Amino acid sequence: MTFETLGLGPALLRALAEQNYTTPTPIQAEAIPYALAGDDLLGGAQTGTGKTAAFGLPLLNTLSKTTPVNGFRKPRALILVPTRELAVQVSENLRGYARYLRMSIGTIYGGAGMGPQTDMFRRGVDVLVATPGRLMDHMERGTAKLDEIEMLVLDEADRMLDMGFLPAMKRILSKLPRDRQTMLFSATFESEIKKLALEFMRNPVQVQV
Ligand code: AMP
Repeated sequence: MTFETLGLGPALLRALAEQNYTTPTPIQAEAIPYALAGDDLLGGAQTGTGKTAAFGLPLLNTLSKTTPVNGFRKPRALILVPTRELAVQVSENLRGYARYLRMSIGTIYGGAGMGPQTDMFRRGVDVLVATPGRLMDHMERGTAKLDEIEMLVLDEADRMLDMGFLPAMKRILSKLPRDRQTMLFSATFESEIKKLALEFMRNPVQVQV
């Protein structure tokens, strides 16, 4: 099994080779073909399994096919994560994968100034990695406009629920276009996660490692 046979484009393959990703991990091998086909995905995976690339690579591949080269850009993909640390880590990984794509990855989280984050929205961002509370702030101020979101990822959804983000997540999800692809990753699938999936996903394929 190689990343090429999974169906990723040359710009991503080149970036992966440079970062010494030779073989897809099990969650990547399972999830990437479904994600590239446009299916909604429920992924059962812990940290360290390569789940970031499992959603990040197909997300970048899909967006890269239609990314506008110039002009102001509203986010087309939203990745919600529970913590600032994970926001930074996911963003860094995505920037590494997107090295040969014309795509900007923006990161917002609480505990940091609003000013630079607001400037980032003004400059335009293709992929937004965000913690729920801070994203709500930007939505309420009108700086984050989510009406062009085509892809949504809920990363470590169980941790977001444990941290009390369910109301914020529901508010955010209710503002997104319904016609989108959704991927939810979680280490566990308790009933609250299943309810979220039923409410906000379309016939998700379940992959588990
Ligand atoms: P994650 O579970 O997404 O946090 O990934 C764990 C670590 O594995 C990160 O440092 C990734 O850069 C790395 N990684 C993910 N997938 C691969 C792969 N297919 N080959 C080599 N390293 C990988």
